[in-house]
Amino acid sequence: MQDESKKACVVEAAASGVISRYRDRLPVGEGTPIITLGEGSTPLVFAPRLSDRIGGRVFIKCEGLNPTGSFKDRGMTVAVSKAIERGAQGLICASTGNTSASAAAYAARAGIRCAVILPAGKIASGKLVQAIAHGARIISVDGNFDEALRIVRELGDKGEFAIVNSINPDRIAGQKTAAFEVVDELGDAPDIHILPLGNAGNLTAYAAGYAEYRQLGKARGLPRMIGIQAEHAAPVFHRRVIERPETVASAIRIGNPAGWDAAQRAIDKSHGAVEIVTDEEILKAQSWLARTEGIFVEPASAAPVAGLFRLAKGKRSDLISENVTIVCTCTGHGLKDPEIISARFSQAAPVAATLEAVREVISRS
Ligand SMILES: *Cc1c(COP(=O)(O)O)cnc(C)c1O
Repeated sequence: MQDESKKACVVEAAASGVISRYRDRLPVGEGTPIITLGEGSTPLVFAPRLSDRIGGRVFIKCEGLNPTGSFKDRGMTVAVSKAIERGAQGLICASTGNTSASAAAYAARAGIRCAVILPAGKIASGKLVQAIAHGARIISVDGNFDEALRIVRELGDKGEFAIVNSINPDRIAGQKTAAFEVVDELGDAPDIHILPLGNAGNLTAYAAGYAEYRQLGKARGLPRMIGIQAEHAAPVFHRRVIERPETVASAIRIGNPAGWDAAQRAIDKSHGAVEIVTDEEILKAQSWLARTEGIFVEPASAAPVAGLFRLAKGKRSDLISENVTIVCTCTGHGLKDPEIISARFSQAAPVAATLEAVREVISRS
């Protein structure tokens, strides 16, 4: 009886998630075991005040609502399912945080080992906590993300582990489902799609998804793809490798993106652009989005909102007008990186547990 209910639970889980929703568009077959946590189908939320402020119709794709709190789960379900199909005994990845959180969770779900290589001291606490909770082997290296990825590539080449970084094409295949969802919901592709640009896998995945849907006749056009980088971690914008990338937005603190060429091609083909924003603009946008639209995202995810503010004011402002539909991907949840917020606020001392004392504090401006 107990076994029966366990089986029922697994079958039910396989009925949700991006593979079940878009199976015919993904590289899975009859024999592929589906490892899913019900990822995808995230809200596409209209942002009225953001729309007002920049003068277009802006929707936020809230990818922080995936099972581990970032879009990485979309690619991970495909990458891990395929790895299991090929007989992998373990996963490995280099990570700025969210890939490791996602890989750790999906490895646990699949019942295999997971090793994550992290740049020491550069991971937001929420993400590290996830990798620990899911039982991953965590190795922090005295180097940056790009160096961590180089080690992972070498280990993967030796066939010891399945690499689940976005250099794995199964990840990109899974991530393109976000573009499918946007078109399925809007009835067409948006005019502009704007998102943070780190290792540059996600922008390429969206562009591939939109192109595929246009070919199928589900979308009429292709959106301009606009990638946003942080000022001091902007290799694609500056067209050169950045040896020591620095930004508060740790998820896009990358100096030599693995998906650079593919992303550049996707941007050029779509008549898109790469823009940069400062850390100050990122934090301002994060706070504005949380306070004004009720959407709390991690710093990297606020970069495209900061990018939109710049775009609306700058020399490309001609791209935006009232009838222009813009989708902004907010890639990860705000709770991933609580210190960014808590470091700026000191906990107030407690007051007496009386109505008067509480009322007095509330009435202070
Ligand atoms: C991974 C990640 C990014 C960067 O995506 P790329 O595919 O590497 O460009 C941006 N934001 C968050 C929250 C991420 O986890």
